[in-house]
Amino acid sequence: MRGSYIPDRGPDGSIAGVFTSSGDVTQIRETERELERLAQFDALTGLANRHRFNDGIAAALQRSQRSGLPVALLFLDIDGFKAINDTLGHAAGDDVLLEFAHRMLQAVRSTDLVARLAGDEFVIVLEGVHGREEARFIARKIIASMRREFRAGDTMVRVTTSIGIALGKGGETTSEALLKRADTALYAAKREGRNRFEVAV
Ligand code: GH3
Ligand code: MG
Repeated sequence: MRGSYIPDRGPDGSIAGVFTSSGDVTQIRETERELERLAQFDALTGLANRHRFNDGIAAALQRSQRSGLPVALLFLDIDGFKAINDTLGHAAGDDVLLEFAHRMLQAVRSTDLVARLAGDEFVIVLEGVHGREEARFIARKIIASMRREFRAGDTMVRVTTSIGIALGKGGETTSEALLKRADTALYAAKREGRNRFEVAV
């Protein structure tokens, strides 16, 4: 229940009493909570969405400035995902997206940020990375984790991903610049034949 108290003032400003009103706000609260959740998490996979990613990477870069250790941004895009949708249907495509999200989460630490930006595009923010080799190691691990076939509807399919990686420190780069470099590296990984990663210079 929500209560409101409004003072009943007399003509001279003195308070003669209070008016009270109340109403059931359980429904409103539930809707508010749902909107809050929807504003931060992707409805299909439950991963962080673009908004949460934007906040998360900004915070990670601030921590990076204090620690002096870079942030690694991995930009992933499923290879040939459109064909899975077109041949097996949208629901089968959704199965693949869910399993893809699950395998990414298993390949990183629980404190790493994994987000879905759109469609079949995902990003991972790794903090406290000691060098490019550490980011490469995770990228290899993710690519390897996709080797096992995926269940899509009632069939099994092979799914691969391409990954673009960019590293940077807070104070020296911005989240926009990092994302752009990772995107360019991802494009290079696609061009070089897919099922591989590239690290931005
Ligand atoms: P590439 O190897 O170049 O990445 O090719 P691709 O076929 O994966 O192409 P692209 O990344 O452009 O395909 C993304 C597709 O994802 C297109 C769109 O129909 C589909 N898609 C976007 N959102 C969803 C979703 O929520 N569920 C499903 N099942 N499909 C989606
Ligand atoms: Mg794709």
